[in-house]
Amino acid sequence: MAKPLFTTHTGMVDILPGEVEKWQQLELLIRDTARRFHFREIRTPIMEQTELIARGVGQLTDIVSKEMFAFDRGDDHYVLRPEGTAPVSRAYIEHNLKQRGGTQQLFYIGPMFRAERPQKGRQRQFHQFGAEIIGSPNPAADVDVIAFMMDVYRQVGIRNFTLKINSVGDPESRQRYKEVLQDYLHPNLSKLSKVSQQRFETNPMRILDSKEEQDRPIVEDAPVITDYLNEECLEHFDLVKRYLAGLGITYEVDPRLVRGLDYYTKTAFELISPDLGGQDALGAGGRYDLLIEELGGPSTPAVGFAAGIERLFIACDALGIELGSEPAVDVYLVTIGEKARNWALSHLHEFRQKGLSCTMDYAGRSIKAQMKDANRENARFSIIIGDNELETGEFTLRDMEKSEERNLSLDQIHKLIAPVM
Ligand code: AMP
Repeated sequence: MAKPLFTTHTGMVDILPGEVEKWQQLELLIRDTARRFHFREIRTPIMEQTELIARGVGQLTDIVSKEMFAFDRGDDHYVLRPEGTAPVSRAYIEHNLKQRGGTQQLFYIGPMFRAERPQKGRQRQFHQFGAEIIGSPNPAADVDVIAFMMDVYRQVGIRNFTLKINSVGDPESRQRYKEVLQDYLHPNLSKLSKVSQQRFETNPMRILDSKEEQDRPIVEDAPVITDYLNEECLEHFDLVKRYLAGLGITYEVDPRLVRGLDYYTKTAFELISPDLGGQDALGAGGRYDLLIEELGGPSTPAVGFAAGIERLFIACDALGIELGSEPAVDVYLVTIGEKARNWALSHLHEFRQKGLSCTMDYAGRSIKAQMKDANRENARFSIIIGDNELETGEFTLRDMEKSEERNLSLDQIHKLIAPVM
């Protein structure tokens, strides 16, 4: 075939029929998650005023300083939006959404644009889904957006990830920490990479997440912000951790996670996957209590996340998950005998009501046939139920992926496999 006269720009891709179906399925799944978590969709234009992004995202960030697709037309300065939080905040202020009362729980799905060097997991037009809770200072809101994000991956079948969390404090804590950090870094300044040297004065915290090899050993022993948080920030962080644990969400505290944007306050988080290669963040977010005021609105606490759809698909490919195929079953009840079958029938709904998909064998087949069926249905867990189990109240819970079995009470099983809700 002759070389086409026109092609897409570098880092921008067509999504063709055959592939678009998996996008549709994911979008349905995200919308359904939003419905369950009670977030409402917002759609903002793909172009914004350049000044909004510069102020919102921060002049010193890579996004604003070198990755904006921006142009002028007459007196107007246009930019293709590189992210969703500043546009959603703008809309919140412009339409006075505060007047609608209560907190606003909003989500979006759509294309974003950054003039980055394209590579695996990094495009110039890419897509994000994200959610924001605007108007609540409560740490429960932080946990709610994290739970929303993780629920999407859970439903897709991606479970191989690490949630990293940190607190980047408030301006007061940060100022204290900034000074301590600069004092620590100063003697090593000449050993730091050029980029980090440039950040020393303006944004030394960004040095902590430097990808430059030569910065690593210096950064490793640096003081950590969590030691300089004031009481309010500490308490907030403690509650976030406690609420996460309450939902059964495991996390790692990473005191070097800073996320680079000036507007972040208190909670910052990132969801990291080992299946992505170099660009290993599936999604990320944090609290931004100062942003709305910075953009000219009333002082309004808020928290949100954004996650990359292309990266979600890369993780799916690595894990052999085919979206558009039959959804996996969370729990398969394997029964031995009539009594167990009746018991299972009445307990099936307990799992379903907790948001898990749960099924069982209705045909009275052998255990072997039932296990085979559970495998075919891609079940995450099976629970084996017989007369003995009903008598003792202890059941065998089998993790089908890991082929591990544990004997547990029904209560323990519910706790262990409770989905994030
Ligand atoms: P950020 O807005 O930079 O915090 O990014 C949030 C998420 O969006 C990341 O974790 C990625 O999954 C995704 N993302 C960011 N930049 C790109 C890009 N250039 N190409 C593809 N995905 C991206």
